[in-house]
Amino acid sequence: MNFHVLTLFPEMIESGFHTSITGRALENGTIALDTINIRDYSANKHMRVDDYPYGGGAGMVMQAEPVHRAYKELCEKYIGRSFRVIYLTPQGSVFTQSMAEELAREEDLVFLCGHYEGIDERALELIVTDYISIGDYVLTGGELPALVMMDAIARLVPQVLNNKESAQFDSFHDNLLEYPQYTRPEEYMGMRVPEILLSGHHAKIEEWRRQQSLRRTRERRPDLLQNNPYLTEKDKRYLQDT
Ligand code: SAM
Repeated sequence: MNFHVLTLFPEMIESGFHTSITGRALENGTIALDTINIRDYSANKHMRVDDYPYGGGAGMVMQAEPVHRAYKELCEKYIGRSFRVIYLTPQGSVFTQSMAEELAREEDLVFLCGHYEGIDERALELIVTDYISIGDYVLTGGELPALVMMDAIARLVPQVLNNKESAQFDSFHDNLLEYPQYTRPEEYMGMRVPEILLSGHHAKIEEWRRQQSLRRTRERRPDLLQNNPYLTEKDKRYLQDT
């Protein structure tokens, strides 16, 4: 998976992504990161990339030309590759785990980060294929949303997580929240790890975990249980009886 990020703040993306698990995956070549500084494509002698909005109003708008030129150079560098270009915007569809799963199957993804009041609509019309938000709130720029998406996508790329870090039972697997997790010591502040987890009985542990997932989802995110196609008859009976 190759991540290409068009941004005014490449250092933010670089430092965020070159850390922990994604940093290890970058180092061993499982994923690649290419940050493109939109300011380098300004035609202005002062390297300005923003201007006042037509029609008046608060704030500044990123100009179309530097964004469009940065993208065109990316296309020239990788002739023959087709890109999905994701514009991070509070006006987009809200990002979910299933979107991450779908995007993790792409070979290349381009993330376009806005700043100030956003980007001139004409650049967006020319290059953007997907409009995605990370939630119903407004941030100062698209860099943190891009990092959020890239992290969620990268960990689904084969070999990014090792066996110990498997994504298989994370929250949202089967549209359920994950069961509670415990590690050593067996007792902390008078609270013991549930006995079943110490039993070594794998089938019983799996059953307990599934039940905990169902309970937790019902308590914290009941919306996920509605029309959930992954619920088995046994799951439904458990939810009814408890
Ligand atoms: N004026 C814009 C609007 O009302 O839609 C908001 C601009 S925001 C201050 C600046 C940039 O931050 C946006 O262009 C976008 O790239 C990014 N951004 C802010 N909130 C976001 C969110 N919830 N999800 C994704 N990107 C966001």
